[in-house]
Amino acid sequence: MSAADPAPSAPDFDVLIIGAGLSGLYQLLRVRELGMSVRVIESGSDVGGTWYWNRYPGARFDSESYTYGFSFSKELLQEWSWSEHFAPQPETLRYVQHVAERFDLRRDIVFERNVTAAHWHEASRTWQLTLDTGERLSARFLITAIGALSVPTLPRIEGVDSFRGQSCHTAHWPHEPVRFEGKRVAVIGTGATGVQTIQEVAKTAAHLTVFQRTPNWCAPLHNRPISAEEQQKIKASYPEIFQRCRESVSGFIHTPDPRSTKDVSPEEREAFWEKRYAEPGFGIWVGNFRDVLVDREANALMSDFVARKIRQRVKDPAVAEKLIPKNHGFGTRRLPLETRYYEVYNQSNVELVDLTETPIERITPTGIRTTARDFEFDMIIYATGFDALRGAYDRIDIRGTDGRSLKDAWNGGAQTFFGIQNAGFPNLLMVMGPMCALGNIPRSIEYNVEWVTGLLRHMQAHGKTRVDAPPASVQMWMDVCRKASEGLLSNEVNSWMTGVNLNVDGKTTRVLARYSGTGPEFRARADAVAAGGYRELELA
Ligand code: NAP
Repeated sequence: MSAADPAPSAPDFDVLIIGAGLSGLYQLLRVRELGMSVRVIESGSDVGGTWYWNRYPGARFDSESYTYGFSFSKELLQEWSWSEHFAPQPETLRYVQHVAERFDLRRDIVFERNVTAAHWHEASRTWQLTLDTGERLSARFLITAIGALSVPTLPRIEGVDSFRGQSCHTAHWPHEPVRFEGKRVAVIGTGATGVQTIQEVAKTAAHLTVFQRTPNWCAPLHNRPISAEEQQKIKASYPEIFQRCRESVSGFIHTPDPRSTKDVSPEEREAFWEKRYAEPGFGIWVGNFRDVLVDREANALMSDFVARKIRQRVKDPAVAEKLIPKNHGFGTRRLPLETRYYEVYNQSNVELVDLTETPIERITPTGIRTTARDFEFDMIIYATGFDALRGAYDRIDIRGTDGRSLKDAWNGGAQTFFGIQNAGFPNLLMVMGPMCALGNIPRSIEYNVEWVTGLLRHMQAHGKTRVDAPPASVQMWMDVCRKASEGLLSNEVNSWMTGVNLNVDGKTTRVLARYSGTGPEFRARADAVAAGGYRELELA
């Protein structure tokens, strides 16, 4: 369908939402409250998004469970009891399904449908969607809730399709249980997903071979069950817990230590890091000394501390060296949290292959061929990551005013207004779009959904039917993002956070790919836009 095609006289819905993960579900609830007609289009066969797709062994939170759930309903908070401090995926999926049932959300969702195109039609001020089923739907507003890490990417290795055993990407894990007993299993990838998968598969596989291209700095998760007493305490303290998340840099309960590494003696520093290493969650990453992620020397000291831990935990010194990152410092990529990950490499059924020494040449019908040898496997698991942040947008033919495509508009890097709007794509509202605040994701989702809902409410109240972000407003936000990223060591490293995915054409070099400022600053600025009557936007 092109922008010139005739549009229906009235749109099918006031709002169409793409995606029934946490963002889409909460947005659906809020849109309903505005009295607008709404339909959600979801590619999976049920709700859950990330937690629907990522069923790989060992998948679990690394945000504290009680900071991850929705905070908007007191009743929901009191009736749901997380079983562990860092809940496993099946429990999280049950939670999302519970939310869908409790708020009767499924009746407005259509499943197993992909949106292939979304075109803006100026004369009728509507978005016209085409689905892979051939169906067409139209709406005044299009809200994308399609995730920042929702497009899995397979490695660009010759022969991926030729393997005759079982193989799959972690984000396309089968719904039926997969057993590893008696199997020779390969895992490619050692990011947060690979680490969780490896430590689980190693428990039962006859043999596990890990193919590592870049080691990552990992730290212990320290998960454990939530006792009855802790449960009571958690339920009584939700207001304080969420207040703490709101005030913290990235929505977690952890906040940076106000001291720098140089403010303390080497002994104090060591004691502080020992304490953090022994504590659960991301404290060691986002609750570290304030200079660890920005100062080269401080970062080197911290990296050395974790390297020593790896050497202590891995018995074979040669293997330990391979597991210690040499091309980036601690915390400059997303920190995988682990449970006995390093000890896995002390097991006789586990082998580590360092791809920097012996790269993969191809996947064969029976396994994997490196420059050194042929490996035979029953199963290959690809924990090879995602076309992150803008990837899901690039896969829909989104066209704004004058038929301009979003992919072209984002040539050279996504440019948005708070990750919510684009210039020239009226009434397209993105929840968790590129350049929004990330961090503890549901905390950002709730804010973004409420902001979008506030804008819709304002438009209803003022009889407006069209909203666009002028280029100058997008530029303003991009300047904020650029400034916030200055000095961060993470920007000198290849990762999805700097827009790099070596398996995707056009994404092999670093760009400004995300907002890396604080959550409070993001909200203060976005709140100011709303409080000022959205003067930065063009409303008509
Ligand atoms: P990732 O961090 O991008 O890691 C992908 C891994 O695959 C890397 O080790 C990468 O190596 C490797 N790889 C990719 N292509 C390869 C190739 N051709 N040959 C060999 N190795 C290859 O992806 P992820 O682990 O799925 O994690 C993505 C994000 O999802 C995380 O950063 C996190 O934000 C989120 N996540 C969250 C949780 C949680 O909350 N519990 C769990 C898992 C993931 P290189 O590093 O060399 O490219």
